[in-house]
Amino acid sequence: MRTRDLIEGVLNRASVFKSKEKLYPEYVPPELPHRERQLKELALLFRPLLTEPGQISQRVLLVGGIGTGKTVTARAFGREFSSLARSRGINLEYIHVNCHRDRTLYMVVSSIAKQVGMPIPTRGLSAQEIYLGLLEYLEDENKYVIIALDEFDYFIDFAGSDAVYFLVRTYDEYPEYTKRLNFIFIARNTISLSKLDPATESYLLRNIIRFEPYTAKELYDILDSRRNLAFYEGTVSDEILNYIAEIEGRDTGGKGNARVAIEILLLAGEAADSEGAPRVTLEHIRKAHVMVNPEIAILYDTLVYLQLHEILFLLAAVRVLRRKQQPYVRIGEVEEEYRSICEEVGEKPRRHTQVYEYAMNLKKLGLIEAKTSGKGYRGKSTLIGINAGPLEFLELKIIDILGRKLGEKIVKGENNVDRTSILK
Ligand code: ADP
Ligand code: MG
Repeated sequence: MRTRDLIEGVLNRASVFKSKEKLYPEYVPPELPHRERQLKELALLFRPLLTEPGQISQRVLLVGGIGTGKTVTARAFGREFSSLARSRGINLEYIHVNCHRDRTLYMVVSSIAKQVGMPIPTRGLSAQEIYLGLLEYLEDENKYVIIALDEFDYFIDFAGSDAVYFLVRTYDEYPEYTKRLNFIFIARNTISLSKLDPATESYLLRNIIRFEPYTAKELYDILDSRRNLAFYEGTVSDEILNYIAEIEGRDTGGKGNARVAIEILLLAGEAADSEGAPRVTLEHIRKAHVMVNPEIAILYDTLVYLQLHEILFLLAAVRVLRRKQQPYVRIGEVEEEYRSICEEVGEKPRRHTQVYEYAMNLKKLGLIEAKTSGKGYRGKSTLIGINAGPLEFLELKIIDILGRKLGEKIVKGENNVDRTSILK
């Protein structure tokens, strides 16, 4: 055991983790075992950006199921490729847009503009106007971008064929511009593309890179490299990793989802910590396995993007629903709980109309259900429910994110009381 690990292990005996955030879904690890082929194909397809920048606008489609590494591969590629480009004097930026969150053309285009640092007025411009402004801005700044449109299936469904056409055919529409925009489209499958007109569809299918579900052996390698980053030596055995790999491996009856495998490892580590156990056991894995549900993983991605008060409201809904053991509860009760949570964490509760807006937004994102009360309720009222997986699990997720958000605020000095006490 490395001396440093050994000493640190004693200092932090309360935890098996030395760096838990290395297991968070947004973390981009330094190596991606078993995604070498995909990375090479990306490099090959984007190579012209380095050799003859501005000559082509590349479009690549990444396709694969949940947890096959599409997002992390795109991010890792974007990070390294743009840094290589800059070292060769090409001003290339990588931008990642989550279309589950930004699913209209306007939202996607605004997000891109914001991320490249283009100053845009907050109101009054159409998506098309902002987009044109973007083309001008890139020209002025002599900048190139690779834009990853992640969860692109949602954009197709929500924004529709015309919006996709608009993005994909940029330089057919505006041939006078240097080709500075390049796209990586990321989708679960190619079925969603069949909703597009055939020309756009075949355009998108031209450069396709597939991501297959992982085998148990592959998952083992992924878990192995993550273990060494996240845990103290000796706290997670090979047997543990094997067990998880076989639960989730495609060839051993699982879905081949790396996200779930890593999440099981994270939750198992937390289970060990909460018992004060010195190492992760098979029982911890079993416990974690029950908590994991791939449908929630998608929603979890959007949780980190929520505003603080939306999260507080969501937490309130989870708690009231858990307490009441009913499928739906009145929004008034949730609001009451929300107020008391606000008080606990030292936040000023927002007004009723604002709170209602939060609820509607959470509904739009699929995090909560909202409907008008019918029979069996006195008076008319909005009812709130949550179908997205076990509440206990969701609550843990929310608290985790809330802890990070409140933690940030505390660090920024916006508040000097310890508001994380609620999370304990
Ligand atoms: P997808 O976008 O296909 O749903 P992600 O890219 O979000 O999948 O991957 C899910 C999780 O698994 C993330 O935490 C990611 O870092 C991790 N992961 C996926 N593939 C690999 C890999 N080959 N090596 C290391 N980590 C991986
Ligand atoms: Mg993804």
